[in-house]
Amino acid sequence: AEEREELTWELFGTASRELAQAVADDGFEPDLILSIARGGLFVAGALGYALDVKNLHVMNVEFYTGVDQRLDLPVMLPPVPNVVDLTKKKVLVADDVADTGATLKLVRDFCADHVAEVRCAVVYEKPRSEVKCEYVWKHTDRWINFPWSVQAPVVRREGQVLDA
Ligand code: 5GP
Repeated sequence: AEEREELTWELFGTASRELAQAVADDGFEPDLILSIARGGLFVAGALGYALDVKNLHVMNVEFYTGVDQRLDLPVMLPPVPNVVDLTKKKVLVADDVADTGATLKLVRDFCADHVAEVRCAVVYEKPRSEVKCEYVWKHTDRWINFPWSVQAPVVRREGQVLDA
């Protein structure tokens, strides 16, 4: 059986710090970080603190799932970032994983026409990714369990009495 890649919350702390260090060592000083929701939000927040970048933006990209269907291409969901905010900026795109790389390609292409420079930082990159990210913490071809999505969503517990 093929083992999974297990990212714990603790290991995520190490990974994001090392990812930030790679960006800094490279001399790249982003004006803003563009996170890809939802997994990229954690990465972008951690990189924002580690690189002292307060200008964070969010893009929602999902592989559209219809009834029993998944399209070949990811789609942008609203709200789409205002291109004026990105114009002539050095942008660091942050996400959890580049798997096929289709998501990052969409975001990178969206930015390319407007920004001064766009680079990508991911915790994991898989060999088949069509986007080769500038900053990668770990290369893997396994399925990854992320700490933020490994558990099922919480369900409401009945009969809970909250303190007034
Ligand atoms: P893409 O194929 O566009 O690079 O990745 C699309 C999305 O699929 C990722 O942002 C992530 O949410 C999800 N994904 C891809 N590979 C994995 C994986 O190994 N583990 C988990 N948990 N999600 C993944």
